[in-house]
Amino acid sequence: MEFATARNRMVESQLISRGIKDERVLETMRKVPRHSFLEEALVSQAYNDHPLPIGEKQTISQPYMVALMTEALELQGHEKVLEIGTGSGYQTAILAELAEKIYSIERIRSLSAKAQRILDKLGYFNVVLVVGDGTVGLKEEAPFDAIIVTAGSPDVPQPLVDQLAMGGRLVIPVGDRYTQSLMQVVRVKEGITKTDLGGCRFVSLLGQHGWEDS
Ligand code: SAM
Repeated sequence: MEFATARNRMVESQLISRGIKDERVLETMRKVPRHSFLEEALVSQAYNDHPLPIGEKQTISQPYMVALMTEALELQGHEKVLEIGTGSGYQTAILAELAEKIYSIERIRSLSAKAQRILDKLGYFNVVLVVGDGTVGLKEEAPFDAIIVTAGSPDVPQPLVDQLAMGGRLVIPVGDRYTQSLMQVVRVKEGITKTDLGGCRFVSLLGQHGWEDS
């Protein structure tokens, strides 16, 4: 099947059918070539309804989870966004289509380097990739209109809340090492509001304000 056809099917059968409504998110998921972020041997599975390995014991998230998290960021196009967990760079590309400037932090250098090569090749030049511990955020570029964490955390890291602009959205899986709840945290005048968007399962967020690297 042609990749474009596979992407259209993915959007219909995995995203719209499960309640993703943001037209800009759906359009972007129809456009970004997910298969370009995978090893050759996995390309035929690129548009299937599950996560896939990307090396270094890490994964590219299920398309539905990428769409759900992106929708919860409520992007209009003008935002400065921070992503924690670049991984393959696929979610980064989705964000780059939907916002003005993306900073993405990855702790594993080889993944970041590979993601950089793919993003460059695809022409995503509004992205800055950083290697380091994303749980401390990126103070020098704060505040951010939106922050997305694509790894499971024991709690909401306080530095990320502190680096959110007023009205800014933080989307993060919070729970134990095996299952989490996807939380949307919004910074408001009085502090923060939290909304539970449902259960999920992510690899661990390792770092100063995440899980210990054992
Ligand atoms: N969004 C990615 C994609 O589209 O391919 C998937 C990310 S994968 C589920 C989670 C990533 O978070 C892994 O690449 C992992 O190395 C990274 N990670 C874990 N803890 C981190 C931290 N403290 N700072 C930055 N990256 C971290």
